[in-house]
Amino acid sequence: MRILILGPQGSGKGTQARLLAGGRGLAHVATGDILRAAVANGSELGRRVRPILERGDLVPDDLMIELIRERLEEEDGFVLDGFPRTVPQAEALDTMLADIGKPLDAVLLLEVGDDVAVRRLTARAAEEGRTDDAPEVIANRLRLYHELTEPVVERYRGIGMLVAVDGEGSVEEVAEEIESALSGVGAGSR
Ligand code: AMP
Repeated sequence: MRILILGPQGSGKGTQARLLAGGRGLAHVATGDILRAAVANGSELGRRVRPILERGDLVPDDLMIELIRERLEEEDGFVLDGFPRTVPQAEALDTMLADIGKPLDAVLLLEVGDDVAVRRLTARAAEEGRTDDAPEVIANRLRLYHELTEPVVERYRGIGMLVAVDGEGSVEEVAEEIESALSGVGAGSR
């Protein structure tokens, strides 16, 4: 099964994507994790994207598209988390998945209000010390989500692929909602 998970920072997207992938034996392909790993090991990619991540800005579309193409070609079943974040990325994703014959089965949206998102991100900053969880960086990331990623949500809603789930409950509650939302989708496929 191939699932795309969308939602603002602080929606619990990463946690739910990990649970979903683990439970179904799918790869969890998270662009934020891939980029942070590149920064941590000081690769050329890491040096290039580090200042962008620190500001909470978006990495250029062409770089992201190349990065994700290589990863998705390797996987049959996956939960895609953090990509696409812009309409050009979404268009590129559709084309590349059609090219490699691996269309998406479902597009999930975790809905949370900005107040909940900011509260969760601020708590995570204290726990994990992520440099992009500083208050002004959080505000920038949420602004970019509304401006550039919400049109991606609307694109999938428009083609009838979007399944929206309330993301404001506990981890367990949201996971249950996701399971019931997915139970009618792509049954039996991987
Ligand atoms: P995340 O962990 O998904 O919030 O991603 C952390 C950071 O990585 C983001 O704030 C962006 O700077 C960068 N990033 C991750 N995915 C993308 C993407 N699809 N397009 C552009 N930048 C991205």
